[in-house]
Amino acid sequence: MTLRRARVVTLNAALGPLDYRVPEGTTVVPGSVVVAPVGPRQLLGVAWDAERLQTNEVPEARLRPLAGVLDVRPIAAPLRRLCEWTADYYLSPLASVLRMALPSSAALDGPRQFIEYRPTGMTPDRMTPQREKALQAIEGRQGTVRELADHAEVSDAVMRGLVNAGAIEAVAVDADRPLACPDPEHAPPDLNDDQREAASSLASAVGKGFDPVLLDGVTGSGKTEVYFEAIAECLRQGRQALVLLPEIALTEPFLKRFEARFGCQPVAWHSDLRSSQRRRAWRGIASGEAAVTVGARSALFLPYPILGLIIVDEAHEPSFKQEEGVQYHARDAAVMRAKFEDIPVILSSATPAIESRHMAEIGRYREVSLPERFAGASMPAIRSIDLTQDPPPRGRWLAPELVNEIEANLAREEQSLLFLNRRGFAPLTLCRHCGHRFQCPNCTAWMVEHRLMHRLACHHCGHVMPPPKACPECGEEDSLVACGPGVERIADEVAELFPNARTAIVTSDTIWSPLRAAEFVGAMEAGAIDVVIGTQLVTKGYHFPNLTLVGVVDADLGLAGGDLRAAERSFQQIQQVAGRAGRGDKPGRVLVQTHDPDAPVIAALVSGDAPGFYAAETESRREAAMPPFGRLAAIVISAEDSSEAEAVARRIGMAAPEVEGMAVFGPAPAPLAMLRGRHRQRILVHARRSLDVQDVIREWLAGVEWSAKVRVGVDVDPYSF
Ligand code: ADP
Ligand code: ZN
Repeated sequence: MTLRRARVVTLNAALGPLDYRVPEGTTVVPGSVVVAPVGPRQLLGVAWDAERLQTNEVPEARLRPLAGVLDVRPIAAPLRRLCEWTADYYLSPLASVLRMALPSSAALDGPRQFIEYRPTGMTPDRMTPQREKALQAIEGRQGTVRELADHAEVSDAVMRGLVNAGAIEAVAVDADRPLACPDPEHAPPDLNDDQREAASSLASAVGKGFDPVLLDGVTGSGKTEVYFEAIAECLRQGRQALVLLPEIALTEPFLKRFEARFGCQPVAWHSDLRSSQRRRAWRGIASGEAAVTVGARSALFLPYPILGLIIVDEAHEPSFKQEEGVQYHARDAAVMRAKFEDIPVILSSATPAIESRHMAEIGRYREVSLPERFAGASMPAIRSIDLTQDPPPRGRWLAPELVNEIEANLAREEQSLLFLNRRGFAPLTLCRHCGHRFQCPNCTAWMVEHRLMHRLACHHCGHVMPPPKACPECGEEDSLVACGPGVERIADEVAELFPNARTAIVTSDTIWSPLRAAEFVGAMEAGAIDVVIGTQLVTKGYHFPNLTLVGVVDADLGLAGGDLRAAERSFQQIQQVAGRAGRGDKPGRVLVQTHDPDAPVIAALVSGDAPGFYAAETESRREAAMPPFGRLAAIVISAEDSSEAEAVARRIGMAAPEVEGMAVFGPAPAPLAMLRGRHRQRILVHARRSLDVQDVIREWLAGVEWSAKVRVGVDVDPYSF
């Protein structure tokens, strides 16, 4: 269907759909990527199905012509439907959703050629220790000056010096070079019976239409190996596969495993790509050349023309929920995309969310299970340490029993992992003299001390300040004390207890790129680390056979706050981190430090009664009509001026419609009452399952006006509140 008149959704969220004339000799179909003149500017946009979008009808004679059509495949109908669904469901402008499919024009017209550097093999005339270190580290590598310098942990200047000395040379790389093609027969695995059955059940679904599957298997059971077989089938059928990971730090180990199975790497999509890589990836995906893509949640909206399979790995992870811009849940949107594409989608997890379990229970998702760890490895035994009975010495955080276990592990040359979901040295700094606490000037949050980086930082807005010498309130010097532990403080404690132990801290501060993650994995595999101290970043995906002890420093941490999902999330997190222990032939032990060993979460972890825990949690959600049995939406009103935010929140609250099956709570200060300098009020909407709550909210908000200084956002299915 070629169009003479095109209805275009531009990438500008402030604009609605606009109509254009299609110039003679130009072909435009629904989905075509076009350049649309708006006032004096040229905007990128997509021609849409005119009958699906409302706009002001402009008479034929007054239409402006389109300025051009891009030479890329049109956005196919299933993705257009997904964009519409996402915009409707999450109450967001269609343009904002579309920006995820067409991310920045850099993806479309970035450089065709770019420069990378590699060692020449020549030794520079003047050799310094830095240069020697750099040359050793980058042997056989190629990348930008910055990448090579980062990898070698030297300054850019050292690298540039090596370029000038002729030890490193520039090479031109064709940005459109062909992508490697994964081979489904490269190295088929030797699956055990359970795995074979699961793999064939997944693989046989490929090519047969929409089929949502919950792949539920204990940690280390081989879920990745199994879903690889579904990818292999997808490749045989000549279709594209997409794997979503919760964390870009997991990309690098995934790429290695993928390469071992399929002979080459898939295309990676994440925020850390250079513009030339981004362009190459987008083009390869959009042309259908990229057979397999692995990426963070944003990869879901890319225009795969022949998508055959979607996998959401670690599907229970909260990071699949986007909390800014379009506040969508990539797990739920992935199921919708699979539905529109009419293909299978696999949600893989050792600890599926209650929502996903519920869908399996009512028969909406098919469940495929792997009940056993691979190669006879057993699940680790979980024990609790009652901190009220066996407390650490004053000023320490590790109980004697846990310290003994670490010591025993060091003696056996086995690796240990201490889990504490808190970055930095201490979560709170206060003045012993006057009681002053260091708070972020922009947020309702404490400044967190990061001793390694010599500063205090706000984890919400990124505000930083140098560690103060004196109290700003009373002027007293040396009166500041760090309260409570973060991972850095635990690392210090381990270093004091075991001066010879080699420790590593794993948080988003230390593992901020796939490359860093790869280095960490390498060091673990080489046995160069004895004790890892890490946040939730270490709970996911990693497989270290010599890691046999896991210590949970503070199992009560996640339970504070009274969030709907607090118990579930604690349970999942501790099960996941426990799942890092004993994955090889040596059995694992898990010690959980708590002040309340009788709490249902801890009791269930120790007794191993996951089904009982989930049944009780599900039942309490059912009784309170909480998700998945009821629906929630949060309307967040923010402004720099607190009285303005309050006034608009009150007006919205008063305009709340009376709807059967819906209750409105608030307005009240949002949990983070101030964030990035904006005061936040919240109205919580609780509705029965069958109510079209989006429709109600859309109409409700349309009847209220507010100034541009006030922002009103709706979080549908809020994850934490
Ligand atoms: P999960 O994703 O369920 O935690 P993985 O797929 O990561 O489990 O598997 C755990 C470990 O066991 C990995 O190192 C994997 O390579 C290995 N493994 C699992 N199944 C097999 C198999 N059939 N053959 C060889 N190695 C396997
Ligand atoms: Zn802040």
